[in-house]
Amino acid sequence: MTILKEIERVVGEKGLIIGEDVLNRKAGIWIDEGIYADAIVRPKDTNELSQILSICNKFDQEVIPHGGLTGLAEGAITRKGQIAISSERMTLIEEVDEVGRTISVQAGVPLEKVQEEAEKYNLMLPVDLGARGSCTIGGNISTNAGGNMVIKYGMMRDSVLGLEAVLADGQIVSSMNQMLKNNSGYDLKQLFIGTEGTLGFITRAVLRLREKPSSINTALVGLNSFEHVIKFLKHMDKGLGGNLSAYEVMWKNFYEVVTASKSNHTPPLPLSSSYYVIVETMGADQEKDSVLFEKLLETALESNIIQDAVVPHSESERAKLWSIRDDVEQHYQSGPVKMFDVSMPVSYMERYVEEVNKNFAANWNEYKCVVFGHVGDGNLHIIGGVGSDDKKATKLMETCIYDPLKSIKGAISAEHGIGLEKKDYLEISRSEIEINLMRTLKKALDPNSILNPGKVFD
Ligand SMILES: Cc1cc2nc3c(=O)[nH]c(=O)nc-3n(C[C@H](O)[C@H](O)[C@H](O)COP(=O)(O)OP(=O)(O)OC[C@H]3O[C@@H](n4cnc5c(N)ncnc54)[C@H](O)[C@@H]3O)c2cc1C
Repeated sequence: MTILKEIERVVGEKGLIIGEDVLNRKAGIWIDEGIYADAIVRPKDTNELSQILSICNKFDQEVIPHGGLTGLAEGAITRKGQIAISSERMTLIEEVDEVGRTISVQAGVPLEKVQEEAEKYNLMLPVDLGARGSCTIGGNISTNAGGNMVIKYGMMRDSVLGLEAVLADGQIVSSMNQMLKNNSGYDLKQLFIGTEGTLGFITRAVLRLREKPSSINTALVGLNSFEHVIKFLKHMDKGLGGNLSAYEVMWKNFYEVVTASKSNHTPPLPLSSSYYVIVETMGADQEKDSVLFEKLLETALESNIIQDAVVPHSESERAKLWSIRDDVEQHYQSGPVKMFDVSMPVSYMERYVEEVNKNFAANWNEYKCVVFGHVGDGNLHIIGGVGSDDKKATKLMETCIYDPLKSIKGAISAEHGIGLEKKDYLEISRSEIEINLMRTLKKALDPNSILNPGKVFD
């Protein structure tokens, strides 16, 4: 019996996609190509997945975990001869524990569905990102996703209390812990968080929910130097006593393109600043919090830390401000570009961006180097464009961006992961001993190297 026949016996016809239908599916949200795998397998639960992996392991069959395919590091790319295993039928929200403030879900539940479910109980999952409607909890965990609230609540890792994963040989590791504290030996769930589907396939998770804040204050401010960007961060963080929940910076060229006349956005602040920051706080008393927030903005204005500020007065005005920051796609309209995701201590950022620009200028007369990001978390996104997306140009652009990280011990990935895209540069951010230990773990958990092989490292 062929492997696909064996798999079909487990998942039935509904659980298996083969032939043209595989290629007709898009390989990723911003990828124009189809899926090149031999089949897409769609188990409905952990038990089916366990049987599938045990079959694949027996046949040395390479498998690639698929969530919502919104990942930005080529972590879910497949090739001929491989099988994609999708969590798209594993979409059950199993339980909300209102008192313990947890939600238990299957891995294929989209992030937005979890956010909506939590909201029914006046709770919230403090992880949010632009792809919320399509990305899945399994994908968020396996990439250790970041997003806009990391400064207050941490990354996805900080919201995972328990999880269940299936190992390459089909063994089910169920650690569906619901407690905040559990130091009973090794915390095995960490093996599967941020490891991009190379050590196990996540099937279920217990996520930590927080009380939904009853007050939100937001502002867009303009600043004229990066020194002021840092000063303003400190000013707000200190003044708000732990309630700062977002500090998103747009360099002028980001703001300019997104608010240009042909876009959907009107600029809420004039183009006279060098940097634009969306600052947001979450708390429990709207009246008091607004007074404090506006007072902090006023003192920042008076002491010339910021040049200008606009405060939204309704939820729709707030959404409009955020839509400027979220409209990354505007930068994809004029020629080929590539998005980078790096991190470093905040104090190195200005110098780093200058060096990247210098490197671009040394290689191209015309180029795009648009910078924005979660500066409060030390995370910058850079959209680079040099008029070509051929291999040579891409490689040179990567060198321009990654080389300056070496001397400042920065990271080639802050939140998107390594996948195929960045594995050639892993040694910039990880030592030989660290990479060897990663290989040892991989070998121990997946000796036949069937799970997402070739991703992260060779
Ligand atoms: C518009 C937009 C905005 C974004 N903003 C952010 C942001 O602010 N912060 C951020 O961190 N990311 C961001 N991303 C990237 C992306 O959304 C995240 O990486 C997301 O967590 C991926 O989830 P997914 O379900 O789409 O995973 P996929 O793309 O399907 O897979 C990503 C990786 O996880 C593995 N995987 C998927 N499911 C499982 C599973 N169940 N078990 C084991 N491995 C699995 C895959 O093999 C692959 O390696 C953004 C993407 C877009 C398109």
